[in-house]
Amino acid sequence: MEFTCNGRRYPVTVTRKKMKRIIMKVRTDGMVCVSAPLRCADSDIARALQQNAAALAQMVGEAERRADAAPDYTDGSSVPYLGGRLTLHYAAAPGKTIREDGVLTLFARDPQEAYGAYRQWLAADCTELYRELNREVWTAFRKAGYDVPLARIEIKDMVSRWGSCTASSGRISMNIRLMEYPIGCVRGTFYHEYAHFLHQDHSAAFYAVVRQLYPEYDRWDALLKHR
Ligand SMILES: [Zn+2]
Repeated sequence: MEFTCNGRRYPVTVTRKKMKRIIMKVRTDGMVCVSAPLRCADSDIARALQQNAAALAQMVGEAERRADAAPDYTDGSSVPYLGGRLTLHYAAAPGKTIREDGVLTLFARDPQEAYGAYRQWLAADCTELYRELNREVWTAFRKAGYDVPLARIEIKDMVSRWGSCTASSGRISMNIRLMEYPIGCVRGTFYHEYAHFLHQDHSAAFYAVVRQLYPEYDRWDALLKHR
């Protein structure tokens, strides 16, 4: 489940319990957790969240500022992930790194091992997400009648740009650091780069295509820092 505040989507973990009323909490990593009575309808939980959206968003913001100091990859610390945060949980025995809701369980005995396992997982997760978005955005362009190639995606760790498009070779580079931002930001960057297949500049015609196919573009793009 999720709720929205000022254009940002906040993921929410819902647990059903034998209890009388809905209780909302913000964990130290910024994750919103709701405990709800067993028979409580999803729509009632959604309504309660939306009624408290401003207060919850503020608490999430505070939790994030505290956690925002560079991640130290210790057990119980958190890392940014698609606009929310993942709490790292060290598993006692070797095994696959698994994300469940806001928790990333990985095998590590110290922060260095945790960092390695986390980066390996992030690269795989990013590859999967970018592959899906690549197909989704390409399909949207084709449906609108634009003749664009299905891009070959290269994932890069870049400091100064979110993406780039080499129209002549059908290649788009996407920054892995986008994985810290809400998925709308990642999607928006895909639309931006795909529009460069049609216009190799940032002209009004370029933005007309981007906004036609992704009306939310400006809202999400505003969250990305542009250097
Ligand atoms: Zn551009």
